[in-house]
Amino acid sequence: MNYRKMFVVKPGEKIRLDKIDPDFTDDVSNKQDGAEKTSANAQLLADLQYKLYAENRQSLLIILQAMDAGGKDGTIAHVLSPMNPQGCRVQGFKAPSADELEHDFLWRIHRVAPRNGEVVIFNRSHYEDVLVVRVHDLVPQSVWSRRYEFINDFEKMLTARRTRVVKFFLHISKEEQLKRFEKRLDEKDKHWKISAGDYQERQYWDDYMAAFEDALSRCSTADAPWYVIPSNHKWFRNLAVSQILVETMQDMKMALPKPTVNIEEIRKLAAAEWDKMKKKE
Ligand code: AMP
Ligand code: MG
Repeated sequence: MNYRKMFVVKPGEKIRLDKIDPDFTDDVSNKQDGAEKTSANAQLLADLQYKLYAENRQSLLIILQAMDAGGKDGTIAHVLSPMNPQGCRVQGFKAPSADELEHDFLWRIHRVAPRNGEVVIFNRSHYEDVLVVRVHDLVPQSVWSRRYEFINDFEKMLTARRTRVVKFFLHISKEEQLKRFEKRLDEKDKHWKISAGDYQERQYWDDYMAAFEDALSRCSTADAPWYVIPSNHKWFRNLAVSQILVETMQDMKMALPKPTVNIEEIRKLAAAEWDKMKKKE
């Protein structure tokens, strides 16, 4: 199934998140089947990342956004772990520091964008500046409402500089969130992840959905598309994200650099060295 086509937000398309089923699992018959496909994709991703790194010309920026317990951490762990840490970085964004607030909202984002050859995953991103900031009136509407345009321009600039931008909204239901919070309560080693604030924030659920709908509609572009991933089932989420990433990276058509040396000449040097070693024995 072509998940890029299925889950992409078409530029300008008004979307209704309550019309998108977070339980969707396509025709993938079971969890086992999905997990096998995901691990095949993981292998492909490892190979593609190797090429990206070797080519050292383009880069990939993966943006993950979701409600709390939506699965951002899990996606990073499952889908991206096969990649070589040498060319890969995860960048999380908390509430801006006092220093960061002294600058424009993209300042802290741009400085950690990928360099040539790199894959960077944003765990939250500049989209928080039109999500939590909008829901909680952290800046006036006259300020946040202009940010969609700034974001589009910023991502356009990254793309023009050979950074492929791909954005995933991990879509879970309000009930699924409560279940996942419950698990955190049940499991002692997950207590650190839970707070009263997580429950209080649920009263803004509808406001968040409205803010997400606007961000997705207004900032999904041909170059930097948003995908809405049905994420109540973690195994399906992993499958869909990995599939879309494989196809995105295949599209980038990385080429291994041509050798700058004459390999036949080098082989002669190697043979000579082996001879010396053997003579010493
Ligand atoms: P966590 O991802 O659970 O570690 O939480 C990070 C927190 O930082 C979340 O509550 C986000 O809403 C918050 N956050 C991230 N970016 C911003 C921002 N630009 N403005 C305000 N809060 C933010
Ligand atoms: Mg949290």
